[in-house]
Amino acid sequence: MNSIEKNNAETKPLKLVLAGNPNCGKTTLFNQLTGSKQYVGNWPGVTVEKKEGKVKNNRGIDVTITDLPGIYSLSPYTPEEIVTRNCLLNDDPDVIIDIVDATNMERNLYLTTQLAELGRPIVIALNMIDILEKRGDKIDIDFLQKSLGIPVVGISASKNIGIDKLVDKVFEVASKGKYVEVKNIYSPETDRVLRDIEDALEAVKQSPYHRKRWTAVKLFEGDRVTWAHYNFTDVQKKHIDFHINEVKLAKNIDREMIIADERYKYICSITQKAVRRSKPVGCITFSDKIDSVVTNKYLALPVFLLTMLMVFFITFGPLGNLLRDGADWLINTWFAELVSNFLVSANAAEWAQSLVVDGVIGGVGAVVSFLPQIMLLFTLLSLLEDSGYMARAAFIMDKLLRLIGLSGKAFVPMLMGFGCTVPAVMATRTLENQKDKRLTILITPFMSCSAKMPVYLLFISAFFPDAGPFVIFGIYLLGMVVSVLTALLFKNTILKGKNAPFVMELPPYRMPSPKSLWLHVWDRLKDFLVRAGTVLVGATVLIWFLQRFDFGMHMVASADESILASVGVFIAPVFALCGFGDWRASVSLVTGLAAKESIVSTMSVLFSGTALSTVFTPLSAISFLVFVLLYTPCVAALSAISREMNSKKWTAFAVVYQLCVAWLASALVYQFGTLIMNIVG
Ligand code: GDP
Ligand code: MG
Repeated sequence: MNSIEKNNAETKPLKLVLAGNPNCGKTTLFNQLTGSKQYVGNWPGVTVEKKEGKVKNNRGIDVTITDLPGIYSLSPYTPEEIVTRNCLLNDDPDVIIDIVDATNMERNLYLTTQLAELGRPIVIALNMIDILEKRGDKIDIDFLQKSLGIPVVGISASKNIGIDKLVDKVFEVASKGKYVEVKNIYSPETDRVLRDIEDALEAVKQSPYHRKRWTAVKLFEGDRVTWAHYNFTDVQKKHIDFHINEVKLAKNIDREMIIADERYKYICSITQKAVRRSKPVGCITFSDKIDSVVTNKYLALPVFLLTMLMVFFITFGPLGNLLRDGADWLINTWFAELVSNFLVSANAAEWAQSLVVDGVIGGVGAVVSFLPQIMLLFTLLSLLEDSGYMARAAFIMDKLLRLIGLSGKAFVPMLMGFGCTVPAVMATRTLENQKDKRLTILITPFMSCSAKMPVYLLFISAFFPDAGPFVIFGIYLLGMVVSVLTALLFKNTILKGKNAPFVMELPPYRMPSPKSLWLHVWDRLKDFLVRAGTVLVGATVLIWFLQRFDFGMHMVASADESILASVGVFIAPVFALCGFGDWRASVSLVTGLAAKESIVSTMSVLFSGTALSTVFTPLSAISFLVFVLLYTPCVAALSAISREMNSKKWTAFAVVYQLCVAWLASALVYQFGTLIMNIVG
């Protein structure tokens, strides 16, 4: 490895890790330090895996920075804890940057006391000092560093305050490479036992010297993983247990509790002196006041639904429509004419003109013209998320989810599903229970992903120009209802299982930062542009070709004689009961498997010049949208599903189930709709 080849202090690469509680700003700091754009969300559980970033410092030394999932303690229970603990123990970082949320010192320092025992140099990044200042609270940083014996730097990751100072401190500590043990955490009697265990460990030469204290504490707590790791003889085991039992008997409580209790006492003794609050603890804050309304037993759900309706109104009401018309004109009129004129003046062949103008610009342009509205939607949703409201929504849903027997943890993946199913499915890794995980993967695709939005918008502008927000709202709701029904169905049959307890912590309300807003929106935009440039262009060109030629490779006069039509008519009858047994509709649904936006680009190529209303009625438009909402997700999502399901059988089951549900729901809508219209009319 590198470090052996150039093992002199000047050029040795540095390994830094970012550790801290969930939602304390680790990823924000990671992005600041590395210039990358990882997902930052104002709720716990966003970072599931560790992420690495590489930078060079001002002396040209390679620095690897690792962003870890947030944890409250270093016990080996949850997947986040396991990932973080393994990284800290096995990768031997040069410096651990411990991010402490200054507005929540007690809980954050609890993790610090554990990190401090790992035997690696530590620097505390005291984050969110901007909020602290705004509240008028004060933290005596000097006192804090002196009593902990760990360097502390006050920063604001999102406002970019104090980052340089932090970096300097980290390099200073790294160059010394010294580990300082934190003293006086435990009571004298516990400390004596810990030292006895340390001696026992040294006698058997079983612990890395620098991690003596950590190992001793873990053995004291009865940590299964640590006990299993050391092959103590029975005599050694008895010896260690004997010491532990002394304390246990004296205190008459659980071993883990003794340690936790003493850590908290230690932390309180420090924070009492270090933190000066402008308002006494326990008084009702602004956050509490809002929460009493938005998480109120009766008001919560109506408030949530109203909020979503409002978001849809802004996005798909007059303002959104204006944006769309503008974009539509720009691409499909101005740009298309420009290109068309150019091709004519360049004497391009007629088929080439048609390919570029009707095929590529017509197809991809149909999708791109919806982009401003989708961006607007994402800006609004990100605002809600960053401010902390979405976590409240998750909190309410958590109760509902538990009622139907799903782990509350399922809500984060479900919420992310409104953006894109791929990261959402990946986020199910936080679910420990295999059955819960599979169930969550099964229902996440029913959360309408943003790529389906252009399809809704296309049909709304054709059939329901005045009821746009309501139709979209209804579709989103239907997706949620179907996922709840699915959960109910499977939780009581093939995926029966006990629920792991889950405590959702409510993050405080925060002013959304423009940077993180932009990151969210950019995330979607980038995804979209990549798909538009690859899958969409490819699919439209292919579709254009297949509908112009027949099997003998002759250009056809009417698309009805084309290759595409002859294939399409085979699939079409399947959808007759759903009300859209037209071959063009079926073909678009098939291309939708590549990317959902292709439904729109394909339709715009196939229907160019013909109105949608020649094939669809308002009712079959709705049943078509229902099918689009519920049917199998795109290939990218399918591959994520197959990775996370880790079973061919379950992946196949998911595909079949989603197809059946979509067909059934769509057929029901159409048949019942027809029935009702016959009765009424
Ligand atoms: P992680 O879970 O520890 O990775 O935390 P994130 O980096 O995802 O940040 C959680 C939330 O805190 C986001 O809404 C950030 O915008 C916000 N945040 C992070 N650092 C600061 C800060 O220094 N000041 C303020 N006001 N907000 C911050
Ligand atoms: Mg994170």
